[in-house]
This record gives sequence, C-alpha cells and structure tokens, in this order.
Amino acid sequence: MKIIYTDDHRSHFPQGEVYGGELVTPFERPSRMEYILRELKARKMNDFMAPGKLNMATVRKVHDKGFVEFLENAWSDWQKAGYRGEILPTMFPVPGLRKKPMRAIDGKVGYYAFGTETMITAGTWKAASASAAVAQKGQALVSGGERAAFALCRPPGHHAHHDLYGGYCFLNNVAIAAQGFRDAGASRVAILDVDFHHGNGTQDIFYDRDDVLFCSLHGAPEDTFPYFLGFKDETGRGKGEGFNVNYPMPPGTKYDVWGAALESACRKIKAYKPDVLLVSLGVDTYKDDPISSFKLTSPDFMTYGARIAKLKLPTLFVMEGGYAIDAIGINTVNVIEGFENG
Ligand SMILES: [Zn+2]
Repeated sequence: MKIIYTDDHRSHFPQGEVYGGELVTPFERPSRMEYILRELKARKMNDFMAPGKLNMATVRKVHDKGFVEFLENAWSDWQKAGYRGEILPTMFPVPGLRKKPMRAIDGKVGYYAFGTETMITAGTWKAASASAAVAQKGQALVSGGERAAFALCRPPGHHAHHDLYGGYCFLNNVAIAAQGFRDAGASRVAILDVDFHHGNGTQDIFYDRDDVLFCSLHGAPEDTFPYFLGFKDETGRGKGEGFNVNYPMPPGTKYDVWGAALESACRKIKAYKPDVLLVSLGVDTYKDDPISSFKLTSPDFMTYGARIAKLKLPTLFVMEGGYAIDAIGINTVNVIEGFENG
C-alpha cells in the first residue's frame, strides 16, 4: 500500500494545550508520526510518496471561504495585534450572543473556534495545508486505480467543521478527500470514522448530503469530547436524512461491543454500495490512551483492519488521533496490516 507523508507536519507544535486547568505539552505532537513511521519501516512497508500541491478549489467546497482565509492569516493578524503568545480563543458566540463577522483577531478566533484546547502557531497553516494535501494525494491515487492508500496526515482533521476548528483539527482532511472522490467521478462515498472521538466536523460538512454516507463509532457525547455532537438521533437532514449514522458507546467499551458496532456500520456501508471507502483512522480507542476511555487491545486493531478489507472497496485510510505514543505505531500499522492480509 502506498503511504503519503511529508515532514511539513513538524511546523505545527504548539507549546501548550489547556488540559484539566493546566497548560500541558499537547497530546497531539509531532513524535506521533515518528512512532508510526518507525513501525511501518520495521514491517517493510516502505512505499512512501510525497503529497502534491493542495487543490484549494476542493478545500473551498467543504470549508467556508472566510474560515480558510482566517486560518491562512491568523498568525500574522495575531502578530499585528501585538500578542506574544500562541493563538487561543477566550470568547465564543454561544447561544444568547450573536454570531456576526468580526474585525478584531480575538473576535475572529472565537468566531471560528469551538474550544480552547487547540492552539494556532506560526507553522500551523503550513502543517494543516500540507496535511490536507496528503489526503488529496491519497485520493488521487485511489481514484487512479490503487486498491488502497494510507494518508499519514498530521494534524488530524475530523473535528474541523465547515467553518470551525478545534480538537487539534484545522482543515478536515477526510472531507476534502471525500469531495475529491466525488469530483473525480465517484457517485457515492462512504466514510467510516473509527477514532475514539466523534467526527463532529465530518458529520457537519456532509449532514445535508446523500452522496456521502458518514458512520462514526465513538465515546458517547455525554461522557467525552467533543461533547455537544455525536448522539444517536443525529441521522442527517433533508436530502441527507438517513446518511449519518452514529454509534456512541460508554467508557470502558471493549472489542466485543465495539466490534458489533463496526459490524453494523460495515453492513450499512455495504448496503449503500459506495464506489469508495474512506477510513478516519484514529487509534485512540486503545486501552492505554491518555485522553480516551475505550479498551481495545493491539490485536483488536489487526482484527478490525481485516473486517474493513472484507468490504472489498477501494479504500483510503486517513490518519486521525491516537495519543498513547509508545503504542501508536503498533496499533496503526496493525490496522493497515490486518487490511492487507484480510
Ligand atoms: Zn480522537
């Protein structure tokens, strides 16, 4: 399987993340990629490719124009305002306030952010746009006839809405790739999100559409980030009704329950008869993940990779979360190997 990767992700490494009332080293950090690369090479998966130039026309089909401009210019605007720290929102247009376009950078940050955990730094746009280009390259390969590809994206993307960033995500890589498949001629595209956290951004982007089926397996929103989306009764809107499927599960979920949800999602995907499958591949369902609460073991990742292969669809894996750094390589590559042997 071809693996698309670039070192450009390293330019995004904020000094801090707000966690439990403290400023800590971000869980989402560049070394995550080093562990995955090391494990890929150890298992002789060496078919690496660099991404091409990011096609912004596709990006603008899934993201708001003003939002993309904000991300691109946020750091220079922040500098111009005289601030010395990294970009962190302090005020949000929650219900009761008005969501109107802002002139001041502080206002813009609150307008386009949904949380305070994710900082923007000098190198964030470079890394986020390169990450989207990695996903686009994977899409082009699979559209061109490859059975499967692995877009080793960082920063991740599935929390990024049409016009919101957060959850370590800026541009929604999997959504950009899904749109790319549609533009390349696919009639129906399925996205399977196996990250521990709900893919709120991906859901938001395709909520009104029937040409993209979105299935997400995740920690129940009452218990975990991103909290306010990901409930079972969110099934799509208008033409999109029935094409959004959420599987929220409680803390402590093990593979017996998780695997049954995956089985149900796989059956829905099969019935949808998509031309292509995208997998939002987060491995933070692992039992020792520091910010998640599911209990999957390393062999479980191999098992579910094989189950996904049985769908016999052209497949693009897009890297999302996973924060148990010493196991992220093993778990990620187990999915890929399980798929290849499945
Ligand atoms: Zn996650």
